[in-house]
Amino acid sequence: MSAIDDLPPLRAVIAAHGLQARKALGQNFLLDLNLTAKIARVAGDLAGADVLEVGPGPGGLTRGLLSEGARRVVAVEKDARCLPALAEIAAAYPGRLSVLEGDALRVDVAAHLAPPVKVVANLPYNVGTELLVRWLTPEIWPPFWESLTLMFQREVAERIVAAPGGKAYGRLAVLAQWRCEARIAMRLPAEAFLPPPKVSSAVVHLRALPAPRFPADPEVLQRVVAAGFNQRRKMLRASLKGLAPDIEDRLRAAGLSPTDRAEQVPVEGFCALAREVAR
Ligand code: SAM
Repeated sequence: MSAIDDLPPLRAVIAAHGLQARKALGQNFLLDLNLTAKIARVAGDLAGADVLEVGPGPGGLTRGLLSEGARRVVAVEKDARCLPALAEIAAAYPGRLSVLEGDALRVDVAAHLAPPVKVVANLPYNVGTELLVRWLTPEIWPPFWESLTLMFQREVAERIVAAPGGKAYGRLAVLAQWRCEARIAMRLPAEAFLPPPKVSSAVVHLRALPAPRFPADPEVLQRVVAAGFNQRRKMLRASLKGLAPDIEDRLRAAGLSPTDRAEQVPVEGFCALAREVAR
């Protein structure tokens, strides 16, 4: 029995089901159920919410979410080896855990979830960043989720919450902060995972704002931000010249200087520029 439920400790689950971590799937498992319950609490009150968990693995975080009272957890896992372990959790929490086998980048989860939805995940770095960008750039806002509670490499977490003026500030910061409140909620040492990754990690919490902070067309904003940061060392008049022949005038009309670099432009400035480019 573990500290948070009547199921076996995670080490025993991993041994019983032969779940040796696979590098190709970015598997670094959390073993401490008190820690996974703490991560679940970062997502706030779960009692009235459906939780989408991506990459449950042996189920440490899943058990944290359920023991913290999630109404329902819908979990998407690519590694079929994990399914028997997850089935044991589903049996211990009748009617509250559904597991979908598949690639989270392809599975359509919307049909399985009822609002309000909170997303919670400890994902491999590349999949996590790609999903984050998708979750941040839906066609309509507010999105299907109310909050995202996501584990990242610490350096990526810092890029999401970065303020203008430094190397960490870039596309992720602008996309995240335009329509969300973003903060680092926890930092975790590499030793919290089995096997320990090379770098430390952090849990980022993003809460969707009811409306964007500043008006802008999402597609145009993404183009402006991508162009600006693709050549982040260049002045905006050079990095953005492909967007409009009179980009210098448009930069000035947006209150920006053509000699600024993307790194110096706050979210509000990118939104003003997106409005000028769309004009
Ligand atoms: N949530 C578990 C934990 O915290 O111990 C496992 C975390 S481990 C870092 C990442 C998990 O994501 C693994 O179980 C892996 O099999 C799964 N995974 C990797 N790529 C995936 C994908 N594209 N779709 C769904 N799951 C994926």
